[in-house]
Amino acid sequence: MSLSQVAREIAASPTLALNETARLLRSKGEPVIHLGAGEPKNRAPIAGILGAAAVLKEGDIKYTPTEGVPSLRQAIIRYTEENYGRLVEPENVIVSSGAKQALWNLLYTLLNPQDEVIILAPYWVSYPEMVKMVYGVPVIVTPEDGTFHPRMQDIKQVVGSYTRAIIVNSPNNPSGAVYSEEFMAELVEFCEKKDIWLISDDIYHKLLFDNLTWPSPYKFTKKDKENTKIISLNGISKLYGMTGFRIGWTVAPKKIVEVLTNVQAQTTSTAPLVSQAAAEGALRGVQSVIGQLTMMLQNNRAVMLQELKAFSGVTITPPSGTFYCLPDFSAYDKNSVRLSKFILDKAMVVTVPGKEFGMEGHLRLSICGSVKDIKQGVERIKWAIDPESPNELFIGEKKLVRDWL
Ligand code: PMP
Repeated sequence: MSLSQVAREIAASPTLALNETARLLRSKGEPVIHLGAGEPKNRAPIAGILGAAAVLKEGDIKYTPTEGVPSLRQAIIRYTEENYGRLVEPENVIVSSGAKQALWNLLYTLLNPQDEVIILAPYWVSYPEMVKMVYGVPVIVTPEDGTFHPRMQDIKQVVGSYTRAIIVNSPNNPSGAVYSEEFMAELVEFCEKKDIWLISDDIYHKLLFDNLTWPSPYKFTKKDKENTKIISLNGISKLYGMTGFRIGWTVAPKKIVEVLTNVQAQTTSTAPLVSQAAAEGALRGVQSVIGQLTMMLQNNRAVMLQELKAFSGVTITPPSGTFYCLPDFSAYDKNSVRLSKFILDKAMVVTVPGKEFGMEGHLRLSICGSVKDIKQGVERIKWAIDPESPNELFIGEKKLVRDWL
């Protein structure tokens, strides 16, 4: 069968594949614990549900303008003003079917074949694959050993005439790291001086622990909204736990949004009206849901850190935000894909191999599930790989005996 070379080389989304594995095992009655998930178990905020229900009740569900329903774009403008300290106009905003689609459209819009995009490891799995899908070249910048924070000097070293964009994701999936204000300030200045697009993926920007504050990238630019190199991406998936509605958006100079609109018009036309209504409801409704989610995550982080202390071989940089942490398991196995598979086979715990995020030797563990899942999940991992742990484990009534260490 003849297929596109580029398409064939695109890696499967490991996180979606793991969700499917967990679902299949559960459907067979297996007691799987999912520490791979990128979504909390909350109900969607009531304001979002009511927003969607109102348009469903009308029954008039048609195409919307390609760039999104005007009232949702107004809500995004307000959100941008309140959270980014930046006043933009409707022509600076386009709504897409998730931040994922927003990013794909953007990369398609910005890159010529062979253009390079700098990606900071550890990175979200989709960045390099999406860059390749639009015939660009991902250039990975890895932090100093043992840290998750990029260094300006390493970025400068790989910038060349083909560099078109840098993607920044802080708070970061998978590490939970939040980049420093100094770094962000320097990066913004650098990009604007060198004429490089700075794509700021802000999807976790309010899920911060220890009263940290998030520096809006616009804080560091002196350029106006049409001349800045900053393009921000955001959405409702993470902050409101509304992944299934598939709404994200892009804020960019008008000339970019114009092309993004054409790209979207010729592909998906528009994000679904019902989802847009839900997003508007969430954005205009009470915002305490985000604070509650953050508190739950911060509490779960404490539990996770406590449980991981039981491993003498695991080192961890505590996450400062997001749904995740990225402990270093290389003392047990340097090959994270093999280790993750082993843990799933032996202990029925889903983890995501660090290799997928450009951090071999690590496993991404999610803190957005229940305390019980975190405690039992880590206990099972310990049983499977750590010879210092008791060699018997109870999963419900079933006793498992370890005979491989
Ligand atoms: N960016 C990052 C860093 C993410 O982790 C995710 C979701 N896993 C997305 C973007 C995509 O979010 P959405 O559901 O809006 O497509």
